[in-house]
Amino acid sequence: MKTLSIVIPCYNEEETVQKFYDETKQWMEKISADIEYVFVDDGSSDRTLPMLKEMAEQDDDVHYISFSRNFGKEAAILAGFQYAKGDAVVLIDADLQHPPSLIPMMWKHFEDGYDQVIAKRNRAGEKFTRKKLTNLYYKLVNRLVEVEITDGVGDFRLLSRQALNALLSLTEYNRFSKGLFSWIGFHEKMIEYENQIRVEGSSKWSFASLLNYGMDGILSFNNKPLRIAIYSGIGITTFGFIYILITLVNYFINGVETPGYFTTISAIILLGGIQLLFLGIIGEYIGRIYYETKRRPQYLIKEKN
Ligand code: UDP
Ligand code: MG
Repeated sequence: MKTLSIVIPCYNEEETVQKFYDETKQWMEKISADIEYVFVDDGSSDRTLPMLKEMAEQDDDVHYISFSRNFGKEAAILAGFQYAKGDAVVLIDADLQHPPSLIPMMWKHFEDGYDQVIAKRNRAGEKFTRKKLTNLYYKLVNRLVEVEITDGVGDFRLLSRQALNALLSLTEYNRFSKGLFSWIGFHEKMIEYENQIRVEGSSKWSFASLLNYGMDGILSFNNKPLRIAIYSGIGITTFGFIYILITLVNYFINGVETPGYFTTISAIILLGGIQLLFLGIIGEYIGRIYYETKRRPQYLIKEKN
């Protein structure tokens, strides 16, 4: 019999983790495979870990990994994937926003030979501003990044062992799973589901962390922003030369002009701004190189079973 590993990153999910397990277990009875639950406690400060331990005591299929502190969802995903022993893994959120009822269908597609079965959600019931912002984000990202990232496609998906091993062979420190999933390719299948509003607990994303995530998405996947910096640098410098040439010619023909206070100031401000912006972008990349070269582990495990 084949084994299906279910990887669940959990950060302060005491309100939902039990419910998640109960519900998922019911759906798993529909699948003829050995099930392995890999809960990754991402340094929760609430009762998540004791609850996981209790579940593990009652059910041999339940495994847990607990981090020494909060390392972020990307790290939790990686730890779960590295731990999973299944012929396929399903990555799913603990908050029941990803309906476990889809897993049997994912498994079916896996048995039909697909390597990635991707659940795509619509955005029904989400706040208008958030919908608009995400829309904008995906438009921007897809313009900048080589891999295709689709709106509504989150982390909820099934990966075959082959796809999983491919993913694990990518050893970068800054992991942006959405991009990595798309980058590895393989035989993909998309299934759709209704957006679920979080029932219990609250989203762990603040506005700032969403913004940071967005930046990661753009920066960790290519060097196009750097390229833009170079091209606009060339453009602005050319423009500056032409401007100086015209002013010089004008000086020799018409003599000294009244000093252009406005033009001077605007040039300083404009160029200063642009330079700062691109220095920032370059700094971002250097920062990333810095993190990559340190080769620190993505997470530290406090305990596991
Ligand atoms: N999560 C995590 N570490 C974090 C933040 C979140 O492991 O630092 C987990 C969280 O417990 C949940 C999943 O990632 O299972 C998705 O988190 P959340 O529901 O807060 O995000 P959203 O659904 O709003 O994208
Ligand atoms: Mg959620």
